[in-house]
Amino acid sequence: MTAPDLAQRSRAAVWHPCTQMARLAQVPPLPIARGEGPWLIDTDGRRYFDANSSWWVNLFGHSDKALHDAIKAQLDTLPHVMLAGCTHEPAVRLAERLSARTGGALGHAFFGSDGASAVEIALKQSFHSWKNRGQPEKREFVCLQNSYHGETLGALSVTDVQVFRDAYDPLLMRAHIVASPDARRGNEAEALAAMRALLAERHAQIACVIVEPLIQGAAGMVMYSPEYLRGLRALTREFGVHLIADEIAVGCGRTGTFFAWEQVAGAAQQHSHRGTETQRRSAPAQDWPDFILLSKGITGGTMALSLVLTTDEVFDAFWSEDVTRGFLHSHSYTGNPLACAAANAVLDRFDAGLLDDTRAQAARLTRAFAPLAPRVAHLRQRGMILAFDVPNAPPRFAETFHLKARAHELLIRPIGSTVYLMPPYLIDDATAAFLAEAVTATLNDVLA
Ligand SMILES: *Cc1c(COP(=O)(O)O)cnc(C)c1O
Repeated sequence: MTAPDLAQRSRAAVWHPCTQMARLAQVPPLPIARGEGPWLIDTDGRRYFDANSSWWVNLFGHSDKALHDAIKAQLDTLPHVMLAGCTHEPAVRLAERLSARTGGALGHAFFGSDGASAVEIALKQSFHSWKNRGQPEKREFVCLQNSYHGETLGALSVTDVQVFRDAYDPLLMRAHIVASPDARRGNEAEALAAMRALLAERHAQIACVIVEPLIQGAAGMVMYSPEYLRGLRALTREFGVHLIADEIAVGCGRTGTFFAWEQVAGAAQQHSHRGTETQRRSAPAQDWPDFILLSKGITGGTMALSLVLTTDEVFDAFWSEDVTRGFLHSHSYTGNPLACAAANAVLDRFDAGLLDDTRAQAARLTRAFAPLAPRVAHLRQRGMILAFDVPNAPPRFAETFHLKARAHELLIRPIGSTVYLMPPYLIDDATAAFLAEAVTATLNDVLA
């Protein structure tokens, strides 16, 4: 099978995600044969550095042996069993370990199968818990400008990226869309004031606010401060509204801590003695959000899995002899043992001190990309996400950049005029230098 054949067959038979299929002749999909560490290798043997971790999921590169071993062992024991009426060790262990990482503040884990399903679950749980507590009128949702929470109808209702949303707008629930913080504009205080105004007026009707902590990913890696989130937590407590932290993209160590929220919840401890992980985890329950959503990196790019972590308070609202007050939601693959085994193997890496290493990796990226700063706008980074904006980007910049990068052994997909790296946690000095050179060379080609 030669490369063009596979791309050709794909064009005919596979409807590609997030793709205008009419463009596929000009932008043929790369026919990937296998993956090795950060590299993807195509059917002609050419290699590409997976700079966006295959849509932000692939934490340890491709074909990671420890993850594969964990999945293989589980495959030979119990590949699947339903999680209603049955339970199994990998799910229980995973739920316990994630709860422990919040100091028990979010001690109840509900399983879904991808990010969007976790968003649906959290929105339903928030609404239903208020209803069970005698406040059925709390049924409105709040999200931030430019937010992205997935593309099923409920998740799209709290998403504010026009290109994904506009076609379906007539079908969507009417969420409140509030000004978002953006460090490039330094508008965090203003954004909080707008949130305060909305909550003051509508809190009796509002169930929850959903945010992407620290970084709005799909908006183009928009970064903002933990202070905004601290203010948002205080506001949502003041007005009796749930707060959902969508860590589908930013969780699992991406921002330098396992949960991005640790940089919010643990701030006091960090300021006093640059807290160890344990100190951050012991942040008061009051500081945590009511929900944390995980997916993407939680299985290290091997299996589809998502989780909704929530508090005793939300959980207890469903506790009843009455079946209909329960959370009667399920997906066929809920809590799939193979996926849970993969997630447990991912957590093993964090237990073994991975975060110290990713901090060193992030510093290598900082150093390697510093020379690019004068040529681009808003070079920014938080942990293992680095981004910059390209001033006066030509039309179809993202597509052109993506195509030209292939010649430099780089698989990368800018968002609009924002180029970003969200690489696997495999950055040594040589790969950091390679990435900076490949990105710079591509930029030269595109702007030439
Ligand atoms: C990717 C993403 C989702 C949706 O996850 P899927 O697995 O693609 O459904 C939701 N929220 C955020 C912040 C994401 O980045």
